[in-house]
Amino acid sequence: VSQESIDSVRPQTPVKPMTATEVKVNVSIPEAAERAAATGADGVGLLRIEHMVLSLGKTPETYIKDHGERGYQDELIKGIRTVADAFYPRPVRVRTMDAPTDEFRELAGGESEPTEHNPMLGYRGIRRSLDKPDIFGQELAAFKRLYDMGYDNVELMLPLVNDAEDVLRAKQHIESAGIDLSKRRWGVMIETPASALCIEEIAQTGIDFASFGTNDLTQYTLAVDRNNENVADRFDELHPAVLELIANTIETCRELDVNTSICGQAASKPAMVRYLVEQGISSLSPNIDAVRDVQHEVKRVEQKLLLDSVR
Ligand code: PEP
Ligand code: MG
Repeated sequence: VSQESIDSVRPQTPVKPMTATEVKVNVSIPEAAERAAATGADGVGLLRIEHMVLSLGKTPETYIKDHGERGYQDELIKGIRTVADAFYPRPVRVRTMDAPTDEFRELAGGESEPTEHNPMLGYRGIRRSLDKPDIFGQELAAFKRLYDMGYDNVELMLPLVNDAEDVLRAKQHIESAGIDLSKRRWGVMIETPASALCIEEIAQTGIDFASFGTNDLTQYTLAVDRNNENVADRFDELHPAVLELIANTIETCRELDVNTSICGQAASKPAMVRYLVEQGISSLSPNIDAVRDVQHEVKRVEQKLLLDSVR
């Protein structure tokens, strides 16, 4: 039988192995939603709002000035819906804004952005959202409208938190926007060493999940700028210091009944997948092209763990 005829009878959507650890997928832009959903992934582990905003070509403030608050919300809703529809009822984890000031500067209206010596240590993620409640409020209003439309598969994720205070302050804004968090799944990214070290308090804020952003967690733990090619050979997500922060966080979260996941680039790397499944992570979210390999690697590691346990 020729290879060609085998391919022609192969199902389009790959048959995914059943695993206890969920394998989700990162969706970078809404246009990739259908292709991502066709991988058979268990949901979306990361959908970044800032990609939708950057593609508008204007800062949120400028877009709102030109098109109104409702117009801005409509754009966010359009992007999120595209992904939430493609995956429904599988969960889609949507992260609130996390663009550094140098990326905002490129946009119309960006000239009023602060010039920062090191934007990666600066005004981004939850820090910016807590400092700009009007803009954060527009994102939350978009979530609220999606929930009112029946998108109960949308989950809300907060980037770059350091401690429980960051989470509780954000939670107040979420609740003020009319979102009933007892009915929704929400959580945080663990991407600073502080957040990993404060996980016990963070886990008690009511979150459902904590997701490792290993791109940032590695950068901040090793003091290696993720965008600096001079130190790129020192950027190692498998460094023992990074792995220890992750392992301790998973253990604490398991004790406190909080789900754990990974949505950094390292979720696509077999060595990291092996390590995390062994530690008992709840889900992994690799890139679209890596989903299939990660599904099979998870299956292999889970089977090995099962065999080891009965030996
Ligand atoms: C991360 O830091 O690993 C992450 C997924 O977030 P971003 O790459 O958007 O900073
Ligand atoms: Mg990050």
